[in-house]
Amino acid sequence: MFKKILIANRGEIALRVIRACRELNIDTVSIHSEADEQAMHVKLADESICVGPSNAQLSYLNIPAIITAATITNVDAIHPGYGFLSENKRFAEIVEEHDFKFIGPKAVHIEMMGDKIQAKKMMIKNNIPIIPDEYNLDNTSKINDFIKKYHLPIIIKAANGGGGKGMRIITKNEDIEKSISAAKAESKKSFNDDKVYIEKLLNDPKHIEIQILADRFGNVLSLGERDCSIQRNHQKLIEECPSPILSDKQRKEISELCVQVVKSFKYEGLGTLEFLFENNKFYFMEMNTRLQVEHPVTEMVTGIDLVKEQIRVAFGEELKMKQNEIKFNGHAIECRINAEHPETFIPSPGTIRQYHQPGGPGIRVDSAIYQGYTISPHYDSMISKIISYGKNREESLSKIKKALEEYVIMGIDTNLQMHQKILNHSSFLSGEYNINFMSNFK
Ligand code: ADP
Repeated sequence: MFKKILIANRGEIALRVIRACRELNIDTVSIHSEADEQAMHVKLADESICVGPSNAQLSYLNIPAIITAATITNVDAIHPGYGFLSENKRFAEIVEEHDFKFIGPKAVHIEMMGDKIQAKKMMIKNNIPIIPDEYNLDNTSKINDFIKKYHLPIIIKAANGGGGKGMRIITKNEDIEKSISAAKAESKKSFNDDKVYIEKLLNDPKHIEIQILADRFGNVLSLGERDCSIQRNHQKLIEECPSPILSDKQRKEISELCVQVVKSFKYEGLGTLEFLFENNKFYFMEMNTRLQVEHPVTEMVTGIDLVKEQIRVAFGEELKMKQNEIKFNGHAIECRINAEHPETFIPSPGTIRQYHQPGGPGIRVDSAIYQGYTISPHYDSMISKIISYGKNREESLSKIKKALEEYVIMGIDTNLQMHQKILNHSSFLSGEYNINFMSNFK
């Protein structure tokens, strides 16, 4: 097994990886920016190295500084966490060029799935249904034909987009041209690539994704689905496993398709295939080639530690489990707690004056904050994840509601109360909610 791993990330996910390493008896090196000297991931790792100033471009995204830190500390491997460099194909290549193992898929697969147009083509080849799209946007007649066939509204998306950014919905013909130009400019600015495409806008779908885990020997497991339909600005807020509306047959069918496609291109590591689900049909959207924020709900229900498995397969171990040995028990729900104004969603950095974390049977809190810690304005506003586990949805829901009530975070604004409201909403309780839940939520 690896002896020492550098974690090229911060916050709760850096802690999550450090903890998995400790269980595997692997030493850890964390990196930090000047703003993060007091951060928990610095305190918890065996060693920590400052890689630059607060600006993430100059620290957590600073590839030469990270490689230097890995060299000085003599690690065997680098774990990218999520966000930052986790889906940067060039980073994965550079890591391996310097004889460190990149804990993630091969660079070629990061590149292939990073381009959503390419990814969709790969899915079509494998008979996975996709959302109808058109990517030849220089040809007006192609756009017109698309609209004639599928009708407005449509959505413009960045081929290399992520984090819910850069999407535009078009409802009127006269907006098409200027919206495409604006989307291109925005995509160039955010993702350094102006490639955009259009998709039919599905009206009221659910977001359902399938977690897979693959080793280098061609073994691929489906670890079930997550329902991530409670979103704000196309970003997930609450996730649950299993989805309250999927039948066993639907789950089995989509899982088998995902395993088959991932096998077909010899993918390795953790991966998530994201779908929209409407009128009992799945439509592939994209594949994420990394550990996801919402991975704990899958861990609770399967009893499998995804981070330890990810490290094991990256080291070259063969998966020990077979698909028929994976058991899905009970129900898990995750709420993402953000430091933000509850109504405007404007980030609310500042010092945590009082802190009390909920607990008890079936409650897990993945967070890196503590009393006296100052949340920096430089990074993502997600500060904690509460995950509940119960023998069924009702029990899981009751536990997470109590945990939200118990959670005390003073000194900054958070969305704790908003989560309570969502979880008490009839549409959430029925399980029938879709991605538009928050637009109609008061
Ligand atoms: P990103 O990579 O930026 O997260 P995704 O392609 O995963 O983008 O989409 C994020 C969310 O945007 C989806 O979960 C869904 O809510 C919404 N979305 C994306 N494509 C469509 C579509 N064709 N119709 C309706 N909603 C969509």
